[in-house]
Amino acid sequence: MIIVLKAGSTEADIATVEKKVVEAGLKVQKSLGSERIVLGVLGNERKLNKKQILAIDCVENIMPVLKPYKLVSREFKKEDTIIDVCGVKIGGKEIVVMAGPCAVENQKTQSEVAAIVKDAGAKIMRGGAFKPRTSPYDFQGMKEEGLKILKQAKEETGMPIITEVMDVANVELVAKYADILQIGARNMQNFDLLKAVGKQSKPVMLKRGMSATLKEFLMCAEYIMSEGNQNVILCERGIRTFCTYTRNTLDLNIIPMLKKETHLPVIVDPSHATGVRDLVTPLSLASIAAGADGLIIESHNCPECAMCDGAQSLLPDQFKDMMGKVKLVAEAVGRTL
Ligand code: PEP
Ligand code: MN
Repeated sequence: MIIVLKAGSTEADIATVEKKVVEAGLKVQKSLGSERIVLGVLGNERKLNKKQILAIDCVENIMPVLKPYKLVSREFKKEDTIIDVCGVKIGGKEIVVMAGPCAVENQKTQSEVAAIVKDAGAKIMRGGAFKPRTSPYDFQGMKEEGLKILKQAKEETGMPIITEVMDVANVELVAKYADILQIGARNMQNFDLLKAVGKQSKPVMLKRGMSATLKEFLMCAEYIMSEGNQNVILCERGIRTFCTYTRNTLDLNIIPMLKKETHLPVIVDPSHATGVRDLVTPLSLASIAAGADGLIIESHNCPECAMCDGAQSLLPDQFKDMMGKVKLVAEAVGRTL
């Protein structure tokens, strides 16, 4: 349920309504839009006396939210959410590209790749220090040492850091270094982890689970937001289908569908969606044409030496070439890069 307040309502008005809702044992989430002020009511709505709420002078209307997801929905917030990450705005007119190696491997590689992708126009640096690997025998990441490497590369390049957090026990640690906390596809429905990052102040990029429906995906974003963290970025990274010629299948449909259903920024990861270097550029272009707000791309200066995902990592020249093409498509659809 949402409570729509009359135009010109003051902080004191909001507090009056909020008090009434909280007294009934429910939580309130505010959406201060440019055209209207909306209060989202979270919890068992039957406990609330709606007539009393409607009787408050500043209340214009009470409306049910028909979708199971509330805070993430366009019904709750009409305006696009724009997330500021150290001055980089995600979800606005400008397309934001995040790039770097799959995993943090050593200082030299991280710093070099960061400088290369920055030079080509990337705004945020990626690199996994905690790696969710299918096999327990594969490289599991450098853990805190990897986070320190990311910090050093950030100091050198000025690029904010996106990196994955895999479990509740490491949320505080990763949040100390990361500018965006990444929740990987395999952890999309790790509800305790979602609640833990929901209590953090750092933005969270939630990757879609490999078999997740749109509703399941958005309910997971709702978990994060219902804990108080409103800075959630959604990431489509390919889903499991009967097509086995690529690692996954990029669900282009979900991009405009998400933009319709939610106000949150949508990022696409064509690297994990395809697993094939040559497919990364065409699918990046398609994603921007379909309305994505940005991309996360794996890039490496020596893919054959990479600790993981070398086959889908773009070489420096390929990355630069891709950025040139992304700029053209971005401009064709009224965006910038
Ligand atoms: C990653 O981006 O490093 C990653 C492991 O991706 P995903 O969770 O989408 O598989
Ligand atoms: Mn990878």
